[in-house]
Amino acid sequence: MLQIRIGNGYDIHRLVPGRPLILGGLFIEHELGLLGHSDADVLTHAIMDAMLGALSLGDIGLYFPPTDPQWEGADSLKLLVQVKGLIRDRGWQVGNIDSVVVAERPKLKPHIAAMRDRLATALEIQPDQVGVKATTNEQLGPEGREEGIAAYAVVLLCPLDAND
Ligand code: MG
Repeated sequence: MLQIRIGNGYDIHRLVPGRPLILGGLFIEHELGLLGHSDADVLTHAIMDAMLGALSLGDIGLYFPPTDPQWEGADSLKLLVQVKGLIRDRGWQVGNIDSVVVAERPKLKPHIAAMRDRLATALEIQPDQVGVKATTNEQLGPEGREEGIAAYAVVLLCPLDAND
């Protein structure tokens, strides 16, 4: 049997005033931020769902339910570290990630390298294993109207090396 697993993840959060904008663990200066029970880091959430999905382990709502006060304002990178542990316990590691953030504003290009660094550090992998792309939605739909920011991720898992 082929020793790789693949998963995909999707998330969207509403943009509102008075909240910080955090994407890939990085605070980005903007007049709007994402609304959610945790820090609402939509990119990190999509990546966690893809990692869990690769092992058919369900979704992040199962592990970090929004009804549980302990996850209020949670730093999603810390949740990502927990998901990494979960897949590691089952003998898997991240081979690579590819992701897309859909946001009309702010321009994300200047922040992509820092987002990749933060995600790679949390996952204990190299930044070249973490693809982050950004696109606008050409002013179409909720992302285009700046009502929210969405993210998509695909993750490939490989078996942990015996010496890892
Ligand atoms: Mg989410």
